[in-house]
This record gives sequence, C-alpha cells and structure tokens, in this order.
Amino acid sequence: MKISNKKDLKSVLEAEGFSFKKSLGQNFLIDDTVCPRMACAVSGENVGVLEIGPGAGVLTAQLSSSCKKVVSVELDTRLKPVLQETLKDCHNVKIIWNDILKLDLKTVLAEEFADCDTINVCANLPYYITSPVIMMLLESHLPINTIAVMVQKEAADRLCADVGSRAAGAVTVAVNYYAEAETLFGVPRGSFMPPPNVDSAVIKLTLRDKPPVEVTDEKLFFKIVKACFAQRRKILLNTVCNTMGISKDSFRAALNEAGVSETVRGETLTMEQLAAISNALCE
Ligand code: SAM
Repeated sequence: MKISNKKDLKSVLEAEGFSFKKSLGQNFLIDDTVCPRMACAVSGENVGVLEIGPGAGVLTAQLSSSCKKVVSVELDTRLKPVLQETLKDCHNVKIIWNDILKLDLKTVLAEEFADCDTINVCANLPYYITSPVIMMLLESHLPINTIAVMVQKEAADRLCADVGSRAAGAVTVAVNYYAEAETLFGVPRGSFMPPPNVDSAVIKLTLRDKPPVEVTDEKLFFKIVKACFAQRRKILLNTVCNTMGISKDSFRAALNEAGVSETVRGETLTMEQLAAISNALCE
C-alpha cells in the first residue's frame, strides 16, 4: 500500500486509532520525493539495510523495493497494526520491536544479513536520540558500510562540518574519526506530519577502513577532544588542564611536542593536532 502522501498516511493512521507521541520523535514523512533519494544512498542488489524507527513504513517500503533485505527496529508497538497493513506486500522486511539503543546489534546484523554482501543503515532518526544512535553505530565496530540518516539541519551542519572550523564540535571530530561525512540534501519541516519546529537534512556517513590519524590511546584522545570543546572560546592550556586534572607543566610539554601554541583555542585544532597532543601525553 502506498502511503507517501498525507491523505493516505492519515487514513491508515486514523483507521488504526494511532496518535503521534512527541516524546518518541514521531514526525512521519509525507513528501514522496524524499524516500527514493534516501534509499538511493544505501541501496543495491545484495545490500541489507538496517532501518531505525520505521514509523508507518514509508521509507521501509521504499528500501524494500531497492535492497535485498530490510530489518527495521521500532520501539512503539502501537504501530504493529499500521505496519501490518502498509508493509503487507513487502516480503523482505522484518520488524524488530525494541529500543535501538538496547539491542545487541552485532548479533542481529550477523543473524539477519548473513546472505548480504553489504550492510547499510537508513533512517529518519527520532531527533531526541540522534547523537547517541550515530555514535553507537560508529563506535561499536559493526560491519556497516554507509549510514544515510535524516537529522535536524543544525545537527547536520555540526556533524558534517570541517574539523577546525567554527561549526565543528567534539561530535564532529568523533564522526570524522570513524567516517567521511557529507550533507546530501535539505528537507523542509513541511515534509513531515506533524511538522517539527525545525528543518532537517539527510546526511551520509561512509565508514572508513581506518581512522585518518594514528592515535595511541583512543580513550585519552576522545577525552582531550571533549575537553578542548568544553569551553570552546577559551585558551586551551587553561580549559584542558582544569577539565582533565592534568598539570599545566605536563600539558605545556605535550603542546610543545605537538607543535601547538599554548594560547590556541581548542575549537580551531585540526584532527592531526588533536592526535599529536593526545599521543604526546601518552609518552
Ligand atoms: N521512518 C518513519 C518516517 O520517516 O516517516 C518514522 C520516522 S520518526 C522521525 C522516528 C521513529 O522512530 C518513530 O516511529 C518512533 O516511534 C521510532 N523510535 C523512537 N525512539 C526509538 C528507539 N529508541 N528505538 C527504535 N525506534 C524508535
């Protein structure tokens, strides 16, 4: 059943007595130009796609027609009758009723996509868990190639910023460490029912085979990154020493070794400089 327009979606949801829950980030797509473009970024003959939050199944149905198998994880079991109706002709879709942040994804991917050559992720993400979901997907070392997700426009700008630019944050560095990030296209708020208060964008993360910098201790590297952006407009020497409880002398020595000025602001550091500081502190 086609539900990519507002009228059809409304009638299916009304027939099942479904009401939107804001707390679950339920803004469903009603713009039939968006799903084909999202699906195009992750599709292929022998590709398995993990979808997060199928909602009423509009993106799920599109993925189903362009990929080998789709596994969709949905938290809200009230959507069961809706998805039964909207996906009744999609025989390569499996729904897992669970919280994406609580699933053992390694096992799920191994079991569900054993016969696929490539595993990608596609989702119109619930905005309240955008960063935790993206970081979980990146940090868990899952066998994923590409992630194409809809996020708030502001989040897209930050996630896809250049490290060292004004728009960057700690999350920009983290995403860049694991993936190449790009914004594919913007999506106005009117493309959703109900419309959210902000515009959105679809971003594509292509996972790297190995990080762009060599880091001796990843935990320490990410701690330093967080500390550098904690008080982003302040001078590095003061903020990092205070946040991490390192003595000024040892941090000064690490900055010297990394060839970074003591008075630089953390937000302006490049990936290479951040790695060099972290590696110097390990010695
Ligand atoms: N894919 C649909 C679309 O584009 O119209 C719905 C997207 S809607 C923005 C987000 C969906 O994620 C909702 O169906 C919501 O119930 C679901 N969701 C929210 N939190 C979740 C979680 N922790 N785990 C899995 N699904 C979740």
